[in-house]
Amino acid sequence: MESILVLTHADESGSALTRHSLEAVTAGKELAARLGAPLTIGIVAADANRAASAVMHAGPRLLAVRGEAFAQARFASDAAACEALWRAAQATIVVAPQSSRFARVMAAVAHRLGGVIDTHIAALAGGDSADVTRLEATRWFYRQRIEAVVTRTARPWFLLLDSGTHEPYAGEAGNAQVDEIAIAVELPALRTEVTGFRAPTQDEQTIRPDAKLLFVAGAGWTKKQPDGAVHVEEAGKLILGFLRASGASLGSSKSLVDQGGEGASVLPFLTHLNQVGQTGATPRHPKGLSTCCHGEEPHVVGWRFIGERRAISLDANCGWTRGKADVVYIADAFQVMAKVNELLKVGS
Ligand SMILES: Cc1cc2nc3c(=O)[nH]c(=O)nc-3n(C[C@H](O)[C@H](O)[C@H](O)COP(=O)(O)OP(=O)(O)OC[C@H]3O[C@@H](n4cnc5c(N)ncnc54)[C@H](O)[C@@H]3O)c2cc1C
Repeated sequence: MESILVLTHADESGSALTRHSLEAVTAGKELAARLGAPLTIGIVAADANRAASAVMHAGPRLLAVRGEAFAQARFASDAAACEALWRAAQATIVVAPQSSRFARVMAAVAHRLGGVIDTHIAALAGGDSADVTRLEATRWFYRQRIEAVVTRTARPWFLLLDSGTHEPYAGEAGNAQVDEIAIAVELPALRTEVTGFRAPTQDEQTIRPDAKLLFVAGAGWTKKQPDGAVHVEEAGKLILGFLRASGASLGSSKSLVDQGGEGASVLPFLTHLNQVGQTGATPRHPKGLSTCCHGEEPHVVGWRFIGERRAISLDANCGWTRGKADVVYIADAFQVMAKVNELLKVGS
């Protein structure tokens, strides 16, 4: 019979679980119910009180690794923590968020425990009437074009879940007694110390994986407009103004980010990290708005996980109008976004 361990970790506060960890809790809880398997939730946090209280009604068993050594993401301490949690739980299936913190250590943890691992899992299925014990994990290959269903007999089987694939667990909080669930970890010599973070300010940070909306800028923003001139500066102001007012994440077409390499006018806040598509990213957001982008297949393939798609293009024959978007506005994006920004400011 299977048994399930969900591994979670705290955010920068050191005490609250990350949203991605809470998604893994939902996935583990659903899977445990389907397989009729016992569920354990393991927590890695400097101060595990708040984290444990938030999920104490999610599963019958909680385990926590706590202490200052776990305040920072570091291979040696995180791998030791996950290993200790598994040794205490002895689960056959381990579900964990594919966060940068856990993605870095989990293959090594699986190896140390003689287990196997699959990454970028988008969905977990199993427990159907044909074989109630069969677990199936789904992931995408070849730039999200091929969906594979993976089953394995080897155990323990570690599964790293992509973010945005499950609702974050939001059950009733309790008052966990962490002393009763804390387990000791024997730490190896720690050679790495995180001395601080250097991150762009919120205004400069345009890629926001948790945003409700993906705003995509296409090459049209830097092209000659009906008045015969280019308006790159105005385009930059409109785009940044919208991002600030809406909190949207910024994506781009390849043509637009490539312009930087050609020495042409380019929007300075865009890098190849913003590129969405076959040779770019495949972000997950409930909604997407494309502007000044033609909607060609190598770009749109990166929109696979966008729930509702809208586009603004001058071209009534663009790819978006050919069935790739739910709503297309045949309009001038400069005018539309200026109006949208005005409305957002009125509403704020
Ligand atoms: C192997 C391969 C991989 C690729 N990978 C990617 C990828 O990962 N991502 C990607 O994006 N592309 C990728 N491409 C390129 C892709 O095929 C397109 O060339 C690219 O997406 C086009 O970018 P665009 O739509 O922004 O530019 P354009 O094709 O130049 O379209 C600009 C659009 O803006 C519109 N426009 C202009 N002014 C306005 C205005 N004022 N208001 C509204 N609309 C306006 C125009 O009508 C036009 O439709 C790849 C291509 C290949 C061959």
